[in-house]
Amino acid sequence: SAFSDYNLGPDILRALEALNYSSPTPVQQQVIPQALQGRDVTVKSRTGSGKTAAYGIPLCEKLEWEESRPQALILTPTRELADQVKEDIMNIGRFKRIKAAAIYGKQPFDRQKRELTQRNHVIVATPGRMMDHIEKDTIDLERVRYLVIDEADEMLSMGFIEQLEKIIKQLPTERVTMLFSATLPQDVERLCHRYMNEPVDIEI
Ligand code: AMP
Repeated sequence: SAFSDYNLGPDILRALEALNYSSPTPVQQQVIPQALQGRDVTVKSRTGSGKTAAYGIPLCEKLEWEESRPQALILTPTRELADQVKEDIMNIGRFKRIKAAAIYGKQPFDRQKRELTQRNHVIVATPGRMMDHIEKDTIDLERVRYLVIDEADEMLSMGFIEQLEKIIKQLPTERVTMLFSATLPQDVERLCHRYMNEPVDIEI
């Protein structure tokens, strides 16, 4: 199959070409059509499979440039992954001029606070710092329609479960949720069951 088989606009197809992504990886083949249709997905796959673009492509396709408040929230266990995901999203969304902010600890809070007042279509964040911004009311989540939980098993093993649940409870319930995890232990399954809407299970 080819990227042009999916319902993707010219801006996204052009970006994929610029990235030299000539054909979708197996996880992308399974995830992109479901996500474009607005289905929740639970994906068991590991780093290196192309999982970031598997959610990044449908996300960038669906984002509305005109909306100035964040439409997508991506949660990651580490700062490194947050930075990487932000870069990938901005590459996939470059011809749509998609803006993403990475929000994590060990960075001046006030600078992030300022960054959060600017136009951001996507917020990529680690759970701890995200909770800080929610508690201080420095982030507007009212327009979030997409939630991605990346490396869910890592996040839970790092003790982020409580924060994760608190964050999810702040989001509009009308949304698409995509969860990615290398393994699906019981606490991850429970999270899916609680906060997702009849997710399609994808295993690569
Ligand atoms: P990830 O699993 O998201 O960490 O991606 C692993 C690597 O594969 C990254 O360097 C991506 O840029 C690259 N990649 C993702 N999708 C594709 C694709 N369809 N074709 C070629 N490379 C890709």
